[in-house]
Amino acid sequence: MGRAFVFVILGGGVAAGYAAHEFVKRGVSHGELCIISEEPVAPYERPALSKGYLLPEDPARLPAFHCCVGSNEERLTPKWYKENGIELVLGTRVKSADVRRKTLLTATGETITYKILIVATGARALKLEEFGVSGSDAESVCYLRDLADANRLVNVMQSSGGGNAVVIGGGYIGMECAASLVIGKINVTMVFPEAHCMARLFTPKIASFYEEFYRSKGVKFVKGTVLTSFDFDSNDKMTAVNLRDGTKLPADMVIVGIGIRPNTSLFEGQLTLEKGGIKVNGQMQSSNSSVYAVGDVATFPVKIFGETRRLEHVDSARKSARHAVAAIMEPEKTTEFDYLPFFYSRVFTLSWQFYGDSTGDVVHFGDFLGNSFGAYWVNKGHVVGSFLEGGTKEEYQAIAKITRLKPAIEDLSDLETQGLGFALTL
Ligand code: FAD
Ligand code: NDP
Repeated sequence: MGRAFVFVILGGGVAAGYAAHEFVKRGVSHGELCIISEEPVAPYERPALSKGYLLPEDPARLPAFHCCVGSNEERLTPKWYKENGIELVLGTRVKSADVRRKTLLTATGETITYKILIVATGARALKLEEFGVSGSDAESVCYLRDLADANRLVNVMQSSGGGNAVVIGGGYIGMECAASLVIGKINVTMVFPEAHCMARLFTPKIASFYEEFYRSKGVKFVKGTVLTSFDFDSNDKMTAVNLRDGTKLPADMVIVGIGIRPNTSLFEGQLTLEKGGIKVNGQMQSSNSSVYAVGDVATFPVKIFGETRRLEHVDSARKSARHAVAAIMEPEKTTEFDYLPFFYSRVFTLSWQFYGDSTGDVVHFGDFLGNSFGAYWVNKGHVVGSFLEGGTKEEYQAIAKITRLKPAIEDLSDLETQGLGFALTL
């Protein structure tokens, strides 16, 4: 049993949705494109799962957040794929790939052949078991990567109302889920090994603002330690978690956000891998010229830094996907991908954006009292990164622009005095 397509997108997440949109914009013919996804629904904006999806009132639900509403574009419902002659093969895992023969074998036993393959398999959540802790398959322990995880989490939150949740990990998932839990009137303790939250991006000063804000909402922090085991009662109901420092925290539920691993395993030994992802060039093309990789799974040249990076953020998934399709459909007109890394988050009434790279000296600006504040990162005499909380659209555009321009900085204290004004007047 088998089908053949000109273009196949493997994976049905954010990058797949934006790639499909770009294919249609560039005139793909009916019957040429197929998307194969393990998930049972058409591509959607994954960021919604840790934000609107978890709210107790008026939660976001599909079909409202199918791609590409996250960038204020058309919403691609299953009907859209049908009308554009795109085959959606949903609820179907690809279990092996042969890039020499240009075939994919699905778990249902079908062989799908392609001329060009776009790998958009994203990533999987790391499990506590990978850190030597057992028991994370218990009903009240939640991870969050896909819609099934989010539905499970919503159910566990509903049955834990007024109870205690422990959030493991102080990264993006931990911070966003902790906010949703307290909004849902669940008591939250965050546990992470670092000295402060969002340790890879936030400076201690930035982190301390957010931690204070979270404390004001009732969130507690236990830092510098990790979870070692769970306690269950005789009915297998969770009662507590134990930490390496000897603390026992009462717990009705646990959310784990301890990072991800890109889904590259189908291509190990077949494509060149680098920094944990599939290595691609500035056209998002892998070491096999018929295979492209986009989104979380791709390690691509970030021109502005002169080195390859693998990014795990939605803007890069959207733009790398569009770029790959441009390179496939109009190779002679498509220049190298020239991407400025962009990360953001929204929690409670707060909202921040970051552009560029968080290396070098940090210059903070603003009052850090909750209105508008931020920071520049200056490396080798040039601005390489900018962070802003509570900015306007124009202010965010200004910090993005100066980060791309990389202006020379002679005097850090002068930059500090000018603060956001530096970006606004450049
Ligand atoms: P994904 O969107 O993960 O899609 C991968 C797809 O491939 C999935 O459908 C998966 O089922 C499928 N797949 C994998 N292997 C196979 C296989 N063998 N066979 C068939 N199908 C397969 N980033 C931000 O910048 N801002 C945010 O606010 C933000 N919020 C987030 C919230 C959550 C809860 C999560 C999990 C991530 C968030 N991110 C955010 C990160 C962002 O969503 C990812 O960077 C983005 O989804 C990556 O897109 P992708 O298409 O590469 O991978
Ligand atoms: P992150 O990498 O953001 O954070 C993981 C955190 O867990 C880090 O602080 C990490 O510390 C810590 N950690 C690692 N191991 C342990 C352990 N054994 N016990 C306790 N803590 C541990 O990953 P997340 O899981 O938060 O997010 C998953 C993915 O989802 C990421 O790709 C992220 O970009 C994406 N996402 C993005 C959002 C956004 O951009 N707004 C929102 C939600 C998700 P260390 O740094 O020391 O390893």
